[in-house]
Amino acid sequence: MPATLFHNASIFTPLDAKAPLSGPRQGNVKNIPHGAMLVRDGVIAAVGDENEIFRLAADMRDAEVPETNNLGGGCVIPGFVDPHTHMCFARRRENEFRMRIAGADYLDILKAGGGILRSVKDVREASDEDLLRVTLENIQNACRSGTTSLEIKSGYGLNPADELSMLEIIAKAGALARIDVTATFMGAHAVPDEYKNKAEEYVDLVINEMLPAVAEQGIARYCDVFCEQGVFGREQCRRVLSSARDLGLGLKIHADEVHDLGGAKLAAEMRAVSAEHLLAADADGLLAMAAGGVLAVLLPATAYSLRKPYARGRDMINMNLPVALATDCNPGSCFCESMPFVFGLAVMNMGFTPEEALTASTLNAAYAVGDNARRGSLEPGKDADFLLLDGETPAAVAYHAGTNPVRRVYKRGRELVIDNPQPCMAAGGGHHAGGR
Ligand SMILES: [Zn+2]
Repeated sequence: MPATLFHNASIFTPLDAKAPLSGPRQGNVKNIPHGAMLVRDGVIAAVGDENEIFRLAADMRDAEVPETNNLGGGCVIPGFVDPHTHMCFARRRENEFRMRIAGADYLDILKAGGGILRSVKDVREASDEDLLRVTLENIQNACRSGTTSLEIKSGYGLNPADELSMLEIIAKAGALARIDVTATFMGAHAVPDEYKNKAEEYVDLVINEMLPAVAEQGIARYCDVFCEQGVFGREQCRRVLSSARDLGLGLKIHADEVHDLGGAKLAAEMRAVSAEHLLAADADGLLAMAAGGVLAVLLPATAYSLRKPYARGRDMINMNLPVALATDCNPGSCFCESMPFVFGLAVMNMGFTPEEALTASTLNAAYAVGDNARRGSLEPGKDADFLLLDGETPAAVAYHAGTNPVRRVYKRGRELVIDNPQPCMAAGGGHHAGGR
């Protein structure tokens, strides 16, 4: 495959410093106004000023002379990485959304056998084909709005067979999708009905049966737990995470979403890669995370969907805590695949600068799923996963609200053809015309 020289672009990218970016560095985004990128075999070979990259290409031997691709002076950013989703599910829960906006509380819905347990029932009853189809549809929606790699958690099976089959579906979806998928095992997502009031016994099942099988099959990179009042307590989470760590899995925690159970501190203590949600985390917990190098993964679309106050993302950045953003896409508390929407909420409602939001949704997000060596910034050696935005700077993602600001999506240097027919335009009239 010949190399491709992408040129005539204003390139914006965070720069990888071999660790997630925190504090003032989180907002440090490099702009190359007349930029170009040389891509070989899907990997960035060089990136810089257009003149410099063209000179480099001119020195290449004939056989290597790259094709050129003119990006029309547009704004280019790394592809979005979504490090926290539950998008492997069987059915949507729109009815529950209607209950919720009419006043029902999230934990009330959970107690009434709705919420996560509804999705557990749906997943257990669904055929593999249906589960795969819905998962791929969700991935496609994410992709359309610029997500070029994402994480998906299990956690709607809640027994050994169904958890493993969810992880198999996630792997299958990852193999069929044109973007990268990281799997996380989340057997400790809820206590299933058959273990009602026997959470401790369910934790034993997770530790003794599910985790060893997951590790043996090598079908998850991370283990996640839901540390929350009425779900799993701190000590139960510690037990699951310790076992997962012993089996070589990376650790993640849904921490302090509704109540502060000390999940942030537990994440620091267990050296988890990330703690997620953190709406109720106290300052001590956040400082422990900062000291322990634990990423904060914030999910503002969930706060939006649940009409809750947002996590204190601005304070976290000021505390030198590296922050990433994710959709939390799931059929209950937040049905959203759009990283641009999350980016916009972070800027408008959490006080992020567009540059901080960019780092949070690309480089820091890549660290949150262990993908930082390949993705998250536009630098030599990384995959050429990038987006052409409809705008001049990354601020366009927040500025042009309610539309998809992503004009084109490139995965390893190849444009993903996303079915965006621009229905109000006559055939052949758009810039997508010409068989692209
Ligand atoms: Zn979640």
